[in-house]
Amino acid sequence: MLSKIIYWFRFVAETLIYIIYPPVCPKCGEIADEYGALCEDCASKIFHINTEKDLPENISGVMRITKYHDGTRELLLRLKFENDLSVLPAIHKILAEVSVRDEIKNFLASADLAVYVPIHQERLKERGYNQVELIFRDWLKAQNLPNGNFLVRVKSTPRLFKFGFAERREILQDAFKLAEGANVRGKNILIVDDIYTTGATVSECARVLLGAGAAKIFVMALASDFGE
Ligand SMILES: [Zn+2]
Repeated sequence: MLSKIIYWFRFVAETLIYIIYPPVCPKCGEIADEYGALCEDCASKIFHINTEKDLPENISGVMRITKYHDGTRELLLRLKFENDLSVLPAIHKILAEVSVRDEIKNFLASADLAVYVPIHQERLKERGYNQVELIFRDWLKAQNLPNGNFLVRVKSTPRLFKFGFAERREILQDAFKLAEGANVRGKNILIVDDIYTTGATVSECARVLLGAGAAKIFVMALASDFGE
């Protein structure tokens, strides 16, 4: 009897909450089907799973998952610059959805270890977290891919969005080093990052990893601009 009352009470309470405080899409603000999820319209437009053809130096493959503009841009800006962790469920749902696709599975299968693109200690203090780790950590674990902070950012660099590839390369030179105790020798490494633009950042990360004896370097990015 009591369990029935509790059941109905919960049902009524949840329905009320749903009516008063409906789930909204974290990207466009329209009503969504469930809390923390994108609305159907945004979800249908976001995916753009695609492998990069022009590979940057030191990189053996690049997988891009969503569009940046008109894609995951708003979610990433809020995560990076507004400390808004409420966008994470929507991002995690995107990853959960792509993990059943063969091209993603095969791409992940080519790596032994995943490495997050690190942020500088100063930025970590400011932001409180490395957004790349929050985006990918649990998902990589669920895919049985060991992952961690195997690189350290030793140089604080300005935001790179306004610079071209050559300038980025120069700015990023010697910006990374291998984390103490990390062993990448003979391993195929997947570098994960939030946004892929020119590939200058991951190329420099890859140089350090190859210098430490890594076999091959692959890259997976949540968002990319696809030649815009
Ligand atoms: Zn939406």
